[in-house]
Amino acid sequence: MEQKQRLAILGSTGSIGTQTLDIVAAYPERFEVTTLTAHRNWALLAEQAIRFQADSVVIADKNCYAPLKEALATHPIKVYAGDEALCQVVTSSSVDTVVMALVGYSGLFPTVEALRHGKKIALANKECLVVAGETVMDLSARHQAPILPVDSEHSAIFQCLVGEHSPIEKLILTASGGPFLHRPFEELDSVTPADALAHPCWDMGAKVTIDSASLMNKGFEVIEARWLFDVRPDQIEVVIHPGSYIHSMVQFADGAIKAQLGTPDMHLPIQYALTFPHRLPMQGERMDFGELGRMEFFKPDLRRSPNLQLAFECLQRGGNTGAILNAANEVAVEAFLNGKIRFTDIPRINRRTLDQATLLSRPSLEEYRETDTEARAIARSLL
Ligand code: MG
Repeated sequence: MEQKQRLAILGSTGSIGTQTLDIVAAYPERFEVTTLTAHRNWALLAEQAIRFQADSVVIADKNCYAPLKEALATHPIKVYAGDEALCQVVTSSSVDTVVMALVGYSGLFPTVEALRHGKKIALANKECLVVAGETVMDLSARHQAPILPVDSEHSAIFQCLVGEHSPIEKLILTASGGPFLHRPFEELDSVTPADALAHPCWDMGAKVTIDSASLMNKGFEVIEARWLFDVRPDQIEVVIHPGSYIHSMVQFADGAIKAQLGTPDMHLPIQYALTFPHRLPMQGERMDFGELGRMEFFKPDLRRSPNLQLAFECLQRGGNTGAILNAANEVAVEAFLNGKIRFTDIPRINRRTLDQATLLSRPSLEEYRETDTEARAIARSLL
């Protein structure tokens, strides 16, 4: 038996994190947990750390350090707190793979540190590529640290590319269309956080579910795809596909199109990112084409999805525009979830922040940090 793969799971109490632990539990002879981290959910983090015999845990919010420390007092588990600790634990020589499932901008610097130390990354945090895609991919190449996509669309594309040696003509990203696909445009002004959190296909965290409803998530996935697969923006097409049976497709120079299909279940892309190039058996529902009958596709309506347009625009403009868009969107989504703005204000705040923030053509990591701070301040002033 080969050595176990030693995991650091950043964001272990979230949707991707808990599903990663399901896979560890199913294959204890293949995986072991070195480090688990959470933002604030110290109680679940402690429970997971005990169950999976982690060596260390990190709680990002320092206010939660004391109760976590106490919960683990009788266990041989090291307890750390704060963002610096997140960047530290990923560099440990007892970590082979970092499952990067932090939400938003917070994923960038731990990802950078992990890459600098040559760790394999199972990447569920698309924002680090939206903010600093060029820098992140450069680090991956320079340190021979592979990035395996966990995002279902990008995992699908990655699976379609296995065994291919020919250039990509086009990537076709599928989008479920979110919960408001069939609502008249005029009604989008009055949707509530609860409406937006009811996603028809995928079970995800709050931030990504709101981003799915606003199509910001799809826009971010376009940017993510551009960097992960090194294609031009005009080689990426988005098609609405309610039901999400096809997780995405690749078209080659001879016109052949490969697709990856399956029931929507994030366990599969997580497991594949960990076990590539192998597939392990997985329980779960299987597709039944006879039952399904038909699949639907249509073009996205850009009037309804200004966020998708903004993402393509940021790809064309490059520089720090992705970082501005991401920061504005994080502020806007939080304000929407707190009932401070309307759903349709999210793309408006994103657009106006992009118009006002300082543009940089080749930002350093430090300048990305400054961009993030400036764009958040602008977005907050627009609320
Ligand atoms: Mg996705």
